[in-house]
Amino acid sequence: LFISFEGPDGSGKSTQIEYLKTYFRERGLDCVFTREPGGTEIGEKLREVILDKSNNEMCDMTEALLYAASRAQHVCQLIGPALNEGKIVVCDRFMDSSIAYQGCGRQLGDKVRVINEYAVMGIIPDLTFLLEIDPRVGKGRIRADERDRLENEKLRFHKRVYRGYLQLAEQEPQRIVLIDGSRSREEMRAEITGHIERLLEQ
Ligand code: C5P
Repeated sequence: LFISFEGPDGSGKSTQIEYLKTYFRERGLDCVFTREPGGTEIGEKLREVILDKSNNEMCDMTEALLYAASRAQHVCQLIGPALNEGKIVVCDRFMDSSIAYQGCGRQLGDKVRVINEYAVMGIIPDLTFLLEIDPRVGKGRIRADERDRLENEKLRFHKRVYRGYLQLAEQEPQRIVLIDGSRSREEMRAEITGHIERLLEQ
C-alpha cells in the first residue's frame, strides 16, 4: 500500500503525517515514512541543492530534472523494495508535487509528467491526500526567515501551484482525496483516518 501526502506549503501536511505515523505504529503495522525531495542519502543531497536559497540561478528545467532524479533514486532504492516486501509506504510529496510546482508553478507543462513517468517506473500511489489551503493563508503560516527557495516564490507562483493541484484532483478523483486544510487538525485527522480504515478493511 502506497500513500502520498500533497499540498501547498503551510497546509499542515507534516502534522497529519505525524498523526498517521502514530496511528500505524499503535496498530503494529509495518510501515515506512519518507519524504521528497529526499528519502535517500543521494536524494537528501539533491534536496539541499534544490532548496538552497543561494542557488537562485537555477533554471526551471534543471529544477524539474533534479526533483525527478531524487524521485528515481527514491523509487529504486526505497519505495519499490519496501512495497515488494509488503510494507505500507507513506510519502510526504511525490509525483503530483512536480506536476503542480514545476508543471504549473514554473509553467513547464506536460514535459514534467513525461520526465516523471521515467522516474517512477510505474509506481504510483494507491491513495493521495491533498491538503488544500488558500495559497495566501498557507504562505502566511511559514515564517519569512524560515522559507526555502521555493517557499519564497511570489504569491502568483503559489496560486498556479494551487490551481495545478485542484486540476489533478479533478482528473483523478479515485486516487486523490481532497482534505480541507482550513479546518482544525483534529477534524483533518479524523477524516484521514476514516479513509485509511476503509482502505485497510478492503
Ligand atoms: O513539503 P516540504 O516543505 O518538505 O517541501 C520542500 C520544498 O520543496 C517546498 O518549498 C515545496 O514547495 C518545494 N517543492 C517543489 N516541487 C516539488 C516538491 C517540493 O517546489 N516537486
